[in-house]
Amino acid sequence: MRRTLDDVQTSAGSTTTDALALLRDRPLVVLTGAGLSTDSGIPDYRGPGSPARTPMTYGEFVSGEAARQRYWARSHLGWSRMRAAGPNAGHLALAALDPTLLITQNVDGLHERAGSRRLVALHGRIADVVCLDCRTTSGRAELQGRLDAANPGWLAEHAAAEVRPDGDVDLEETAGFVVPACEVCGGVLKPDVVFFGENVPAPRVERCYAAVDALVDAGGALLVAGSSLTVMSGFRFVRRAAKAGTPVVIVNRGETRGDELATYRLDVGCSEFLSALAP
Ligand SMILES: [Zn+2]
Repeated sequence: MRRTLDDVQTSAGSTTTDALALLRDRPLVVLTGAGLSTDSGIPDYRGPGSPARTPMTYGEFVSGEAARQRYWARSHLGWSRMRAAGPNAGHLALAALDPTLLITQNVDGLHERAGSRRLVALHGRIADVVCLDCRTTSGRAELQGRLDAANPGWLAEHAAAEVRPDGDVDLEETAGFVVPACEVCGGVLKPDVVFFGENVPAPRVERCYAAVDALVDAGGALLVAGSSLTVMSGFRFVRRAAKAGTPVVIVNRGETRGDELATYRLDVGCSEFLSALAP
C-alpha cells in the first residue's frame, strides 16, 4: 500500500482517487496548517515561493517594553485585516466532515467560524489575550478598543503603513506606542497563542495523542491538510500514527517533513481535495 513520492508524482490523478477511497467511511483525525487558510487570503509563510519572514519569539516578547511596543503597534494596525478573513471551502468541508478530532496549527479561528466543534487549536487563537502575570484571559476585540484609546490618532497617522495579509505590518517606528496593561493586575498582556520558543500546553497535546492512538482500534486514518509539518508540535502526531501502523494521507502544496511516513502524499489544493471528501 505504501507508495513513494515518485509514484505519486507520476500518477497524481489516480492517487487522489485512491486517497479519497482510503479516507471515506473511516474515523478520521485531521491536522491542518497554514495551507488551509491561504484560500481565505491569509498567506502561508512556509509554502513554496513564500517570502522569508521571522516571527517574534517568546524570548523577544518578554525581553522588555520595546519588543512589546513593536508587537502590539503592528498588531493594532493589522488586526482589522486579519479579522476580515472568512472560512473557505476547505474549512466548510471539514466542518461537514466532522472528524473524530480536528487539530489545527492555525491561530486564525476560521475552523471555529466554519462550525467545527471537536477541535483543538494547538497554538491557541489570535482572538484571545492572556495576562502573563495572573493568567486572566480576555478578548482581542475588546483590547482593540483599549489600544485605540491609549494611542489616539495612531491608526490614522499610520494608515499608509503596508498591512500584510496575516495582520502583521511593515512599521519601524513604534517607540511611542502605549501598550495597555492587564485590567486585573496591571501585568503584561500577550496574545494567547504559542510563540516560537514556547511549548504547547500539555493537556492539549495529550488530547491529540489520545485521538490519534484511538485510530488504531477504530481502523481510522490521519489526514494532514495544508501543513509542511516543519514544527514538531504537529509532526509528532504523524510520527505517532505511522509508528502504530495507522494510514497517513498528506495533502499539501510542496514537500513536507512527513512525506516518508505517508501512505499517500498529494500535491493538490486543500479546498478542492476536502470538498471532494466531504459528504
Ligand atoms: Zn493580570
